[in-house]
Amino acid sequence: MSIFVDTHCHLDAPEFGDEAPAVQARARQAGVALGVIPAVGVFNFEAVRTLAHRQGDAYALGIHPLFTPKARPEDLDTLADALRTHQADPRLVALGEIGLDFFAPGLDDAKQQHFFRRQLELARDFELPVLIHVRRSVDKVLRQLREVGRGQPWRGIAHAFNGSAQQADACLSLGLKLGFGGAVTFERALQLRRLAAQLPLEALVLETDAPDIPPHWLYRTQAQREAGEPQGRNEPAELPRIAQVIAELRGARVDDVAIATVRNACEAMPRLAALLPVDGGGPASLYAQGLQQP
Ligand SMILES: [Zn+2]
Repeated sequence: MSIFVDTHCHLDAPEFGDEAPAVQARARQAGVALGVIPAVGVFNFEAVRTLAHRQGDAYALGIHPLFTPKARPEDLDTLADALRTHQADPRLVALGEIGLDFFAPGLDDAKQQHFFRRQLELARDFELPVLIHVRRSVDKVLRQLREVGRGQPWRGIAHAFNGSAQQADACLSLGLKLGFGGAVTFERALQLRRLAAQLPLEALVLETDAPDIPPHWLYRTQAQREAGEPQGRNEPAELPRIAQVIAELRGARVDDVAIATVRNACEAMPRLAALLPVDGGGPASLYAQGLQQP
């Protein structure tokens, strides 16, 4: 059976309550060997770290743009301290979730740009990949990446990517992978589905963004919600079915999508390779070995 990596799942979210162990058991059952749990603010740094260690997953530390209104300037120092403290933790695989959001109302643009900028600089200082939230903000995100990167490539992921083909190329040329998840399962997502079908397979990583972005089979319309059905809760165990949709769009085998996207995830976050299950020379350790070849 193929294995998968969920490169972005908020397993500490309140929507999961105390069900994280059951959610994780379903993920492993479905072949999702590993999840990356990004932090969103200093208040959940400890929660994501503890959860990742308890469950055998990975985590990232960072301040999410939607949490910048409540963030204090000294939170950036707290982040720098946490990165220093946990620098050698093999399960700390990236800096994130960081980014820019020009869709959500009520954000202070100067403040979110400052937090993003400073966190990109920290990623450089600590040599960590970045998990980037990009919503109506691709061009400004690219500009900051270029300015802070000064010609050096980045490692990381443009999470829940939903831009144009041109913007996708710009992200790829800076070294990022593009995160695809539940949004691609909707037939009306024409531009996104075209990208998922046509981008080189080396560009893609898989993610659920659980508990958010439910695939169409979990999605409840506004009418259904008004009639009392709660919105579907996404979870990592949905990833293989999402991969199946991407495979069909590409006319590829789901196993090939799985193998390539695990490899891509390890390229985006090199520490993941050592966390994949060692299965005595089977697929998982082959991915890791493949990455170590020159
Ligand atoms: Zn997220």
